[in-house]
Amino acid sequence: MNLIAYLLKSRGLVNSMQRLPTIATRFGVSTAKMDRALNGYVDIANAYGTTPTLAVTANLIERHPSVFERLSQRGAELAIHGWVHTDYRALDADEQRAHIERGLAAFAQRGIPVEGFRCPYVRWNEDSVTTAKELGLQYGSNRTVAWDVVPADDGISPRALEAYRKGLSLYGSAEAASMVSLPSFVNGLLDLPASLPDDEALVDRLRTTPQRREQIWRDILDEVHALGEMFVLILHHERLALCRSALEAVLTHTQDRQPHVWLASLAEISAWWHRRAGYRLQIDLTAEGTYRVIAPDDPDVAVVARGVDGGAALRPWFGDYQMARSSHFSIRAPKRPAISVDEDASPTLLQFLVAEGYVVQRGGSDCSLHLGGWRTFEDTDKRAVLAVIDASDAPLVRIWRWPQGARCAMSLTGDVDSMTLVDFIRRPLEV
Ligand SMILES: [Zn+2]
Repeated sequence: MNLIAYLLKSRGLVNSMQRLPTIATRFGVSTAKMDRALNGYVDIANAYGTTPTLAVTANLIERHPSVFERLSQRGAELAIHGWVHTDYRALDADEQRAHIERGLAAFAQRGIPVEGFRCPYVRWNEDSVTTAKELGLQYGSNRTVAWDVVPADDGISPRALEAYRKGLSLYGSAEAASMVSLPSFVNGLLDLPASLPDDEALVDRLRTTPQRREQIWRDILDEVHALGEMFVLILHHERLALCRSALEAVLTHTQDRQPHVWLASLAEISAWWHRRAGYRLQIDLTAEGTYRVIAPDDPDVAVVARGVDGGAALRPWFGDYQMARSSHFSIRAPKRPAISVDEDASPTLLQFLVAEGYVVQRGGSDCSLHLGGWRTFEDTDKRAVLAVIDASDAPLVRIWRWPQGARCAMSLTGDVDSMTLVDFIRRPLEV
């Protein structure tokens, strides 16, 4: 699928023909305008102590090497967004491999480090993930989570809403009501899901006002913060001018959240999640109703607890949860503050609960919470399981998801598909 096919499929003929000239005029004849936009994005991120992750279609690195060398040198994280901007789901495994190898060679030739990938149009399949893993990439950002932040009765036309929904279905996006926005290993490779609506949806599909864009991204952050999950924002540099106020509004909004929001690049989140994946909590009964909790010896790890008496070992954190002051401490609780599942529960459920930082066991009656059932368990069941845990008042101790007691994580990302008007016009010809 090329750009024209994409626009027709996702926005309809009339809408596409109306929007194409508008989109084209955002680019300049030389790289100067888009170079300023990319560096402007880095400047804003830097002002808030973070750096964006820019997923670049690799043939642009061959075409405009100095732009990307400078971005990398000034600390922006670059990821690979295909060799050309085509639908990788339409390519077989060998073709995908040839594309990604060629793309990675362009990064290597310029000495630009690359750890992650996002497929063009976030369209991918199992071969994309296997190939990326075999070629040494550490993470992908290819699943998308659509947040329920676009009210239908808010001056957004039915046609605009329809265009937005078409985009979601093309991306294979899942509603946040059914999918958690958390890192997860998909076919063996870590995937960091992106949040929607992105800038393209806000500007070109929903045609929202700047004030509405600010509100929508702030609303996503509020939901993510309440849930303790991850907000991977997508902003394409060609819409920075149109979405600058929304970007600054959401970043400002991160600053007064308590507990704090962890602003990090995708590579930083990937490194943390890989490191954390090996960590386990130990909860030992030392006397009747007394447990010794031993956490991994890593100063970034936060252990949180609810419904237990930890005395001075715990301090207030978020909601019912308190945070441990050190990695070894004792608590009093009527039962072991851990989760048991049925003997025949799905191993995928166990893996998920362990990844969530809980102590989990099959069977037994000494745990404070029992999750019965779940002989099968899918990605879309995670939200329901978390709701059961939240709704119970069972005492629990766990390793928290994010480092240093951050409540949630947020990452600024952008896909760099074109740098000039010529790149933009050439895109449909490159498959
Ligand atoms: Zn793209």
